[in-house]
Amino acid sequence: MKKSALNRRDFLKVGITGLVTTGATGLLFADDKKKKKDARKQTTPASGPQPPGGRREGFIYRTLGRTGVVLPVVSMGVMNSDNPELVRAALDAGLVHLDTAHGYQRGRNEELIGQVIKGRPRDSYFIATKVREGEKFLEMVDISLQRLGLEYVDILYLHNLSKRDNVLAEENLKVMEQVKKAGKARFIGVSTHSNEPEVIRAAMEAGIYDVVLTAYNFRKENINELDAAMAEAAAAGIGLVAMKTMAGAFWDKQRTQPINTKAALKWAMQNPSFTTSIPGMTTFDQLKSNLEVVKDLKLTPEELYDLKMGEARNLAGLYCQGCQRCLPQCPKALPIPEMMRAYMYAYGYKNLAAAHELVSSLNLPDNPCAGCSSCSVGCALKFDVRDRLVDINRLKSVPAEFFA
Ligand code: SF4
Ligand code: SF4
Repeated sequence: MKKSALNRRDFLKVGITGLVTTGATGLLFADDKKKKKDARKQTTPASGPQPPGGRREGFIYRTLGRTGVVLPVVSMGVMNSDNPELVRAALDAGLVHLDTAHGYQRGRNEELIGQVIKGRPRDSYFIATKVREGEKFLEMVDISLQRLGLEYVDILYLHNLSKRDNVLAEENLKVMEQVKKAGKARFIGVSTHSNEPEVIRAAMEAGIYDVVLTAYNFRKENINELDAAMAEAAAAGIGLVAMKTMAGAFWDKQRTQPINTKAALKWAMQNPSFTTSIPGMTTFDQLKSNLEVVKDLKLTPEELYDLKMGEARNLAGLYCQGCQRCLPQCPKALPIPEMMRAYMYAYGYKNLAAAHELVSSLNLPDNPCAGCSSCSVGCALKFDVRDRLVDINRLKSVPAEFFA
């Protein structure tokens, strides 16, 4: 795929009005025709509640469940962003929702967002951050607010849950309610990368959560189950936000075969249960592409063809779908899905710092597979699990300051 490497000056020259879409009528996967129809129905009317910062011409907006907040169907994931100009340009263009986390870039990401939003009217942007469960949860929320320079975030997520028990744990419910009651978060939610249907249903059961941030993309094998859980949650008033829509961004470790991420984002947002999505953006080209998607979710036949390329060529890709089927197969009970996520951060996103941080947090020995004569794990996506584990675990031995 040819990349044009747009810089900020080029981006401003093209301007938002120059980002005209093709208007081609897209063919959808057979199962998606109804989704497409529903997605159109769900677009909010121009009258009534307005999005933060006002409505932009041509943008598609949806309402975030019972929160009543109206957002464009595309928002900005800032996990890998270290360029304040890019984030400023996204806000100026109308992508009002920024999604960060306490741990991103060891806190520097929240600081960067704090710099960017400083001086902007509080009702012109919508900020989410995420904090992991644990003893220091409340302390970490306060640190996040301090870094962001905010009295409250719009959404606080309990980060990275994969089990019903954790969603419903008394301690977790208590601290999340406490944060909301103290006015430090307007809305509260959970985020999940794996076992999503169980987590989504548990969030409904808990009765306190306003939003769920879930992994979702065209590579998900459990898509029907996930769609069903999301439809139930949306009907119950929970706002749903999509992440990992790009499915790892590349089909191969060498990054020679890019995924058509524009098509992948459109595909995800065809699901009317979602209000918005948080694709990660690190370049002005990506911002430009996503500003086209926010105006037009139709998939062209070429885009659909691209999405089927991996399957047709039998490519494993870089995205671990978090199905957890590998876990009971490994006699050492290694945290394989997390290691595969770190692998995707390193090779798909080129974010070695995030990969290093994740791998280091798992406290594995230098050779986690030592003593295992052959790997007994059969991955659902046919990853060579041992090879990827050993490969990514090497990062652990590199001191963190090399990634600062
Ligand atoms: S490594 Fe494979 S089997 Fe394990 S969670 Fe990921 S996709 Fe599923
Ligand atoms: S080789 Fe496979 S089965 Fe053995 S420890 Fe590594 S991942 Fe687990």
